Amino acid sequence: MVFLNGEFLPQKDAKISTLDRGFLFGDGVYEVIPVYNQNIFKLTEHLNRLDGSLRATKIKNPFTGNEYKNILTKLLKNNFAKNQTIYLQITRGVGESRSHNFKNLTPTIYIRVDELKIRNKNELVCGFKAIITKDIRWNNCYIKSTSLLTNVLYVEMAQANLVEEIILEKNGIITEGASSNVFILSKNTIKTPKINGEILAGITREMVIKSAIATNLEVKECDIKTSDLMDADEVWISSSTREVMPISQIGDKTFSSGGEVWQQVYNHFQTLKSE
Ligand code: PMP
Repeated sequence: MVFLNGEFLPQKDAKISTLDRGFLFGDGVYEVIPVYNQNIFKLTEHLNRLDGSLRATKIKNPFTGNEYKNILTKLLKNNFAKNQTIYLQITRGVGESRSHNFKNLTPTIYIRVDELKIRNKNELVCGFKAIITKDIRWNNCYIKSTSLLTNVLYVEMAQANLVEEIILEKNGIITEGASSNVFILSKNTIKTPKINGEILAGITREMVIKSAIATNLEVKECDIKTSDLMDADEVWISSSTREVMPISQIGDKTFSSGGEVWQQVYNHFQTLKSE
């Protein structure tokens, strides 16, 4: 069962107009929210970020926090996986023709739930491969936009290079992963790029920082040069579907992974899931 514009219906019956601006222009925003044991992880934070994306794109937020909660609770009850992932998309709506102009449209809201397959600690400790490439996305990546063509091509690049993630750099400075935030561990300090309009304020990033601080580690939000990343003791990425994942190789360079500091952060992060 999925949710589309006020109705709960089977996925096969969920249909939208070919004049929907999400379909024509990628004119919409979205969220991906993890759910552990029927417990929605950091729902308020995700809904706040959604509201920010909607404000930035001048799409009216169709629901209140409670209305979202009621819809999500109903959808989750119909999906029996232990851990789930919510995909929530809001487009500007259906126009009268394929015109770039718009006024007063009713947003299209689509929500679905899938099983969330998270890797366990044993699978994570060995680390995963990544490569670095140029960040050629637009400058407003703080908006979680459904216009994801560049990201789709990065996924293709990751598959062709047999790596888990593409790490992005702009003018020699690391921005984020194609679908994650980036951390380095350097001389016992955890560093991550500071939030600006060019990267997504990851909810997992926030929780990794919280976990590090809670366990008395030093965290700095600052510029990370590509050379700093390559010289780091460890590299991690974070996202709702990967949690905090060690990177063990970038190109030919290998990094140690799954060390004590990572374990400390990972273990604390696990406790946040049942808060
Ligand atoms: N940056 C980008 C570009 C992403 O697509 C994602 C995944 N949504 C993230 C960062 C991580 O965000 P979150 O921790 O909220 O999943």
